[in-house]
Amino acid sequence: MSGQVSIENVSIELGDQSRRFTAVDNISLQLRAGEFACILGPSGCGKSTLLGALAGHLHPRQGAISVDGEKVQAPHPERGLVFQHHTLFPWQRVIDNVAFGLKMKGVKRAERHERALEILRLVGLGECGQQYPWQLSGGQQQRVELARVLINRPRVLLMDEPFGALDAITRLRMQELLLDIWSDVGITVVFVTHDIDEALYLADRIFVMSPRPGKIIEEIALNFARPRSPELLTTVEFAGLKRHCMNLLHGGLDVDPVKFSPIGFVNKEGSAKSLEAAV
Ligand code: ADP
Ligand code: MG
Repeated sequence: MSGQVSIENVSIELGDQSRRFTAVDNISLQLRAGEFACILGPSGCGKSTLLGALAGHLHPRQGAISVDGEKVQAPHPERGLVFQHHTLFPWQRVIDNVAFGLKMKGVKRAERHERALEILRLVGLGECGQQYPWQLSGGQQQRVELARVLINRPRVLLMDEPFGALDAITRLRMQELLLDIWSDVGITVVFVTHDIDEALYLADRIFVMSPRPGKIIEEIALNFARPRSPELLTTVEFAGLKRHCMNLLHGGLDVDPVKFSPIGFVNKEGSAKSLEAAV
């Protein structure tokens, strides 16, 4: 499987001349092929900047980024990017929006429509090909956007708060759909969010960033069983880790690692607390 990501000692500067500042400060992380990684951090900490560099839109001042050993130097469809707001062409039908990447590669119309329909079925929109983007709901538009990126068979899927503009129920459905697709397609995902629940629900590993200049302040491996279901959101383990992440994001850098026992969350003295005390 391809899609191994390596980020080594990466620092990124933004702004012009006298207003130049470090947005991302000396970040290193290695992702396994097929891993689901979340970058979690407060607004303005440099998450989108880091993702932009992974996509090849920005160049680090220091350090190196590579995918499967190849240095990232410029944008490429093998690193598909999905944003909070879709980038669909309003004048094109859904099927043509999805098939756009294939058109750029010179694939003939009948074949690209066939493949676009296949991907539309994968995102649950097999019936919507003839509609225009503005005829769809926000959640459906984001599914088309996802299909549009997936048709290029990327090695790495880069997602920048892709469900941030959706209502809570649609958002949860999209998270479930994304996990289904991810387990089907076997792709590496780098998912940026400031939403703790979202990161805990989706990820194999969470990389928590500090406020600007963004550094990785903690790496959290999640062993929650897969496939995941929304019941996970109400478990004691989930609540304990959520509290831990809240402490990290709200500036408490001296947080003790969370531990769990069969009876719940364990504090630093080793005595078990009730769920109410933990959350
Ligand atoms: P996040 O995605 O975590 O909210 P960003 O990566 O978008 O953060 O931005 C990091 C910081 O850099 C923020 O303080 C933001 O205001 C600033 N910033 C983002 N893009 C630019 C730019 N092109 N020029 C100057 N400052 C920028
Ligand atoms: Mg951002």
